[in-house]
Amino acid sequence: MIDLHVHSTASDGLDPPELLVAKAAQAGITVLSLTDHDTVAGVAAAAQAAAAYPVTFIPGIEITTDYLDTEVHLLGYFIDHTHPGLIQGCADIHNQRRERAKEILAKLRSFGYELDWTDFPEAADPHSFIGRSHIMDKLVEKGLVAPHNRDLFFDAFLAKTGKAYIPHYYITPRRGIELIVEAGGVAVLAHPGRMIGDWDLQELVNYGIGGIEVWYPSHSAAEVARYLELGRKYGLVLTGGTDYHGRGTQVLGMPGIPEQTAALLKEAASKGGKHG
Ligand code: AMP
Ligand code: MN
Ligand code: MN
Ligand code: MN
Repeated sequence: MIDLHVHSTASDGLDPPELLVAKAAQAGITVLSLTDHDTVAGVAAAAQAAAAYPVTFIPGIEITTDYLDTEVHLLGYFIDHTHPGLIQGCADIHNQRRERAKEILAKLRSFGYELDWTDFPEAADPHSFIGRSHIMDKLVEKGLVAPHNRDLFFDAFLAKTGKAYIPHYYITPRRGIELIVEAGGVAVLAHPGRMIGDWDLQELVNYGIGGIEVWYPSHSAAEVARYLELGRKYGLVLTGGTDYHGRGTQVLGMPGIPEQTAALLKEAASKGGKHG
């Protein structure tokens, strides 16, 4: 079994990279990629941990970009996690993300949810990642939102149409793909089934996308079939993963992702991000 889409504490997952790798090995996963949001901070630790297990580790990332009225999430595989351009690009996004988190907290306070920056001791580390998942976790931890209201609250306040939503600092899909490809990786369109609004795969292919995430927990059988067809039409590597964050009932690894995917991604990365 393989899993090419998982998050650690380097972004908004609950498991540190080392523990994630150990859990993946225990779950019988043979190929794993760590794809934290807009950061490669967990990659070195995960790679090192994987060396102790029969797990092939692929350095990865998930970059959030903005395109018309939708978000385009780009997975990057076989990136050089020490690439200065990629690290700087991530740092820019990261610093803006911290400012945005403070703005979300201010909005929440205006609705009576007393949460401020000092509730996040980890934020003292300038490299710490504070996103909406952390804010949601803290609201529950402080008893401001009942655990069973978590999803309802997220939708009402933190989702894109929510009352306390503040947009990200976004980069364009073109720039996101460029960051991945310049770092020696291949860019893959993440969970197309979760994209809202209009998007054009041809345009993303023109910018240099090399793969599409076909197998994903929330994709229906019809969606899997549709993305398989689209991926084949554009000559893309067909990938998949769970988007594991360690919350709720999520499990690592899902059946159906072809074993040769890793080799195809590696080949595409070596050809400047293109398949075939
Ligand atoms: P952010 O990076 O701050 O924009 O937060 C995005 C993250 O919030 C996603 O990666 C998910 O982990 C989480 N998320 C997004 N939508 C929801 C939702 N409706 N309910 C719970 N968590 C969500
Ligand atoms: Mn997330
Ligand atoms: Mn995503
Ligand atoms: Mn993800």
